[in-house]
Amino acid sequence: MIETELPSREQMINELKQNNSFDVVVIGGGITGAGIARDAMLRGLRVCLLDKSDFSGGTSSQSSKLLHGGLRYLQNYEFSLVREAALERERNLEMAPHLSKIYRFVVPLYKWSKTPKFLLRMGLILYDILAYPKSIGSHKNLGAKGIIKEYPFLKNDQLVGGAYYHDIRTNDSRLTLANIQSATSGHAIALNYFKVESWERVEDGVRVDAIDLETSEKLKIKTKVLVNASGPWSEDVEKLGKDFEGDMKIRRTKGTHITIRPKFDDFAILIVNNDNRPIFLIPWDEFTVVGTTDDEWKESNESVKASKEDVDYILSALNRLFPEENYTYDDIFSTWAGLRPLVYQAGKDERKTSRNHTIHNYGDVISIAGGKLTTYREMARQTVDKVLKNLGLPISKHRCVTANLPLWSAAYPDYETFSSETTNILRTKYNLGDDTAKMLIEFYGEATELITNIIDEDQTLAERLEDNLPFIKAQVVHAVRHEYALNPVNVLRRRFQIAFCKGNGLSSLDTTVDLMARELNWNADKRAEMTQMYIDYVNEFMAVPK
Ligand SMILES: Cc1cc2nc3c(=O)[nH]c(=O)nc-3n(C[C@H](O)[C@H](O)[C@H](O)COP(=O)(O)OP(=O)(O)OC[C@H]3O[C@@H](n4cnc5c(N)ncnc54)[C@H](O)[C@@H]3O)c2cc1C
Repeated sequence: MIETELPSREQMINELKQNNSFDVVVIGGGITGAGIARDAMLRGLRVCLLDKSDFSGGTSSQSSKLLHGGLRYLQNYEFSLVREAALERERNLEMAPHLSKIYRFVVPLYKWSKTPKFLLRMGLILYDILAYPKSIGSHKNLGAKGIIKEYPFLKNDQLVGGAYYHDIRTNDSRLTLANIQSATSGHAIALNYFKVESWERVEDGVRVDAIDLETSEKLKIKTKVLVNASGPWSEDVEKLGKDFEGDMKIRRTKGTHITIRPKFDDFAILIVNNDNRPIFLIPWDEFTVVGTTDDEWKESNESVKASKEDVDYILSALNRLFPEENYTYDDIFSTWAGLRPLVYQAGKDERKTSRNHTIHNYGDVISIAGGKLTTYREMARQTVDKVLKNLGLPISKHRCVTANLPLWSAAYPDYETFSSETTNILRTKYNLGDDTAKMLIEFYGEATELITNIIDEDQTLAERLEDNLPFIKAQVVHAVRHEYALNPVNVLRRRFQIAFCKGNGLSSLDTTVDLMARELNWNADKRAEMTQMYIDYVNEFMAVPK
């Protein structure tokens, strides 16, 4: 039984207007800011988080969606980062099992591979040791025959052997949202489409000038400590400070992914490409994700998208693995690209730049950048410790509790039992297909109950959005009512990822806009605007580049 009702965006804005003073204001509703908001709220602070776009609208919906130690960082001797990430991978599994799916990652090696077998094996031994104690399974070395026996479609004259190890696939947008919902369920305020235009140190803290991009209303907010968690925008947000000299320096590198039709479903593949870069093939039910690239990005953050060169690079790696498939642009369902907000290190190229995070503590202002989706909880812990110190509050009285507390919608005592009982109800009482039941549980955890409540109000909302995909109409209503979705991109690209599937969700668009219009009282002009907005988004950011 899910207990907590979440406040709406409107309720939170009203609350903000009644009392605009906070202990901490967080700029950025990606995974970093969302984790900080949750942690700070749990330590008893009054928190307000603002994001100029959607929650996870920046890098946090553009990742490879893995909770991993980061096997390849061993090449850069980043042992402490791998150790920290491996421990956090385990914690994520405990905090939200429905958002953490363990996969075996098969690593085939070929005659052309630059990584010799012994190096892979040494790396995997170290990877397992650094993750000790862990519950997700160890690695195993395989000869060419062993690989072909277990994974016959990897048969290839060039294959010389390989291995497998284990990591976790998550859902980056939904992990971020679950942190936002954890924060708002505990009376933090979190507002998407609320842009910070400037800020200024004042006598007793920091004044933030923000604008509600939905209404153009401007508000002044006061905070004792300002946390800048704006990822690739970290330098820009420091520059918004009047007479403020910050020293955060970000190196942005672009990573592109594509999705193709599902090829296998119970394991993932890591290809060590012929230039020694890793390319993952990660199964989802409706598609396989393939990526990624890692190239310096000098243009605007808002314009990042897959280029033809990125897609050609990924396709050539894919065709080296499966020569008989001859994948072309026609096989690609969708593309996306995101920016890694790496902390600049002089003398290091983009691939050698550390994925570690950095916290710059300026007293009443703190900037945090870098890091990983996997390590967000630990990044939040360290940041909030600094906030408390700056506020003069003892950490001993405000201890971090996030390591042992489930995320919102993940408080089921035992995931296996929860999952099988819920599947049963979805099948028998709601007559939903197995694919829909599985997707709902993996996406929403306990909040699946909020979706069935919506179906109880109107049975037609149990209908699918598209015949051959598991997504149902009630998810659109739920996204508006409980997930702060304000437009079809929020719904179809981030609350559930129909945009990554064949057809990019365009066949679901009219129904989605109808359902949203009903919830949000849109008139005909607004409906037309929203429909066009989604079409433009897909063409610009998800289509195969011409
Ligand atoms: C291609 C790629 C693959 C990756 N794969 C993985 C992976 O598999 N596993 C892993 O652990 N990590 C992975 N990462 C890293 C991980 O995704 C990032 O470290 C993480 O998402 C960064 O989150 P963030 O919150 O710091 O930044 P963001 O998610 O970008 O959030 C910053 C937010 O700040 C907001 N903002 C900016 N300016 C303002 C303003 N003026 N007012 C209000 N809001 C503002 C933006 O709108 C944005 O939403 C990957 C990264 C990339 C690019």
